[in-house]
This record gives sequence, C-alpha cells and structure tokens, in this order.
Amino acid sequence: MTSTGAVQVDLGDRSYPIEFRPIKEIGATLAGLHKPGKCVVVTNDVVGPLYGQIVQDSLRSAGWAPEYIELEDGEAKKTTDTYIGLVNRLLELQVDRKTPVVAVGGGVTTDIAGFAAATTMRGLPFANVPTTLLAQVDASVGGKTGVNTSHGKNLLGAFWQPFLVHVAVDALDTLSDPEYRCGLGEVVKHAVLEEKQDPSDPSKWVPSTEFFEWLEANAEAIVARDQEALKHTVRRCCEIKAAVVSQDERESGKRALLNLGHTVGHAVEAVVGYGGLRHGEAVAMGTVAETHLAVLRGCCDASVPERIASLLRKLQLPTGLEGLKTDDLVKASFMDKKREQAHITVTMPHSIGDVRLVKITPEELIPAFESLTTN
Ligand code: NAD
Ligand code: MG
Repeated sequence: MTSTGAVQVDLGDRSYPIEFRPIKEIGATLAGLHKPGKCVVVTNDVVGPLYGQIVQDSLRSAGWAPEYIELEDGEAKKTTDTYIGLVNRLLELQVDRKTPVVAVGGGVTTDIAGFAAATTMRGLPFANVPTTLLAQVDASVGGKTGVNTSHGKNLLGAFWQPFLVHVAVDALDTLSDPEYRCGLGEVVKHAVLEEKQDPSDPSKWVPSTEFFEWLEANAEAIVARDQEALKHTVRRCCEIKAAVVSQDERESGKRALLNLGHTVGHAVEAVVGYGGLRHGEAVAMGTVAETHLAVLRGCCDASVPERIASLLRKLQLPTGLEGLKTDDLVKASFMDKKREQAHITVTMPHSIGDVRLVKITPEELIPAFESLTTN
C-alpha cells in the first residue's frame, strides 16, 4: 500500500527531502546529507527519556558527536525565555555555522529549536525529527519556526527550512490517544484541500478526492493505529503539504489554504480556553463549520459538510460543541492575527479538493459559529 522513498519539498536551493525511516536510523539519514561531526540534539523532558538515547546512539554509530539539550515540556514553555536560553546553550557548546541542530519532539520543540537554528549565528543547519502525529503531518514541513509572545501565539519567528525532515512513524507508539486524535484533525484538513497535478498539464492543479476517500475506507484502521495505515496517512499528508508549500513558500497566496478550519477553530480555542480543547479538535470543528458557511453562501453542496463530519466522527473527533456563545466567538475572531482591517481571510470549501479563499467580515462568520452548536 505504502510507497517507499523520500518526498521532496521543492524550493530551489532550499529544497529538502522528507525521509520515512525508523527513529533509530536518524544517524544514517543525517549522514547521507551532511558530513558527520558535531551536532546538537534538542528535545524535551518527555520525549528525551523515551528517545534521547536511541537518537544519540544512532548518531554516534553514524560518526556524529552529538551534544544533547532537553527543554521543559509544554506549549506554556514556548516562550522567548526558552528561546534565549536555548540560543545561549548553543553558543556555550561553541557551535559553528556548520553544526546541525537536530530537533526531536512535537511541534513545540521543533518550532523553538528551528527558530534558534534560524537565528543563532545568522543560521545553523536544521534537521527536523517530528515525534507527534501533528508535527509529522503538519508542523515539520514548510519551514515556519517561532515562539509565542505575550501578544499572541507564534508572533516571533522566521521562515527557516530544514535540510532534512526525518519522519519516524514508529515513534508514535508512545503518543497518548488525545495527542494522536489532535493530529487526525489536521489529517482531515489536508484531505479536504488535496489537489493533484492535471495529467494533461502538470502546471495546473485540480481537485482530488483520492486521500479523503481513502480515509473514509480506512478510518477504523487509523483509529486502531495500524502501522501500514498510519504510514500511508503520514506520507500522503506530507505530500499534500509539500505541494502547497512548494507553490507558495512565504504564504503570499495558496499556502493560506492550509488555514482551513483554523479561523473558526482559533475562535473556538480562544473561547473554550487553550487547554480545554485540543487544537486538532478545534480545527475539526472549524473545518465542518467553514464548510457549512460555504453551503449557506451557495457555493457548496449541502452533502459536503455532513460527509466531512461523518469522517471526523469515525476518527473520534468532535464536529460541534454545546454551549458555545456566538457573540464570544465573533469577538474572538476579531482578534485573529490574520485579519486585514475589518476583514478576515477564510477558507471556503466548494467541494472536497476544491477549497478557495475569500475575505469576509467577522459578522459574516456568524452562521458558521451557529452551526457549531447544532452539529
Ligand atoms: P507538543 O509539541 O506540545 O507535543 C504534544 C505532547 O506530546 C507534549 O507533551 C510532548 O512532549 C509529547 N510527545 C511528543 N512526542 C511524543 C511521543 N512520541 N511519545 C509521547 N509523547 C510525545 O504539541 P504538537 O501538537 O506536536 O505541536 C503543537 C505546536 O506546533 C504548537 O505550538 C503549534 O503552534 C506548532 N505548529 C507549528 C506549525 C509549523 O508550521 N511550524 C504547524 C502546526 C503547528
Ligand atoms: Mg493547525
């Protein structure tokens, strides 16, 4: 079912492979791309005890001399303080501009380590080893790095492409069910926006329902964490995201499609309170709500939101929430950092595989918010 070999992210001289190999092969993968020498593993105090030794042993046996840094776990530690602390540690270790930073962890760790790599000595080589489903299907691909500030999430950061993404699906064995489900929210998002190259004109991208249909047929296997199903899922998501990023590295257009479900999802997260609901769950709800909005605006068939909701339910994800107040959600969406003056750019699914961007006012989101309490 699953093909082997790397997925390439095509970005000219910043192109890189996404390799699908076990965690214990990180040393060899890295050595295939970079001359072994000193490198710095950056992980956290949850992932480190699970995989830190395996990663360091693998690096040593491939000729590397790894240094090792553990950050404190948690989104609450994705701060400027943590970032500055990490930069200082890297400098104490006397890194030079050829020393790779090897980030091993979820999106929090890889975002912080990537930003430290982007900025320390004006840029160190960065290898991304994502260990959550969310990081494997989303955060590790595309080069966005950064930390949170008191003004909001991810407001201090840089685009800094890794030279390698090493995806070890076997490292997901230890991931908790809630974190796993969280990643599935982004998986469905990718499936809804999948495009494929037109066989008669490869410069054109056309809607594709292929991955969405595959998820519908394999939802049970995915919930059961069947390894083959999981490998296919992660690979397809990386392919879909890599295709979008290759067309629009800096989010000047198409990359904004990856925000599907996030305009509504962020508002829900803000109202429910970060921590009350996992990000992927909010994105799942947001994907359905934004599709409902498209139906109400006459650009999407009424069967589509129900089809998406049905897949999400099979994957044990929520599609609505009792007790949400529309007024609170509207206020929260005014705070969305992607707003431009009075308008918000929101994704508008016309069908599976055909998602477009439109500018609307936060008030025009009201029907989407209202649909959340009826799902
Ligand atoms: P996370 O990094 O907090 O990981 C979730 C939890 O799982 C943590 O406690 C972590 O220590 C633990 N964990 C990680 N791997 C594990 C494993 N294999 N076994 C057991 N436990 C493990 O959260 P996340 O969901 O991976 O990432 C969320 C972050 O990613 C957010 O800060 C978000 O802003 C960022 N993000 C970035 C991008 C991007 O393009 N850079 C995209 C999406 C999200
Ligand atoms: Mg997201």
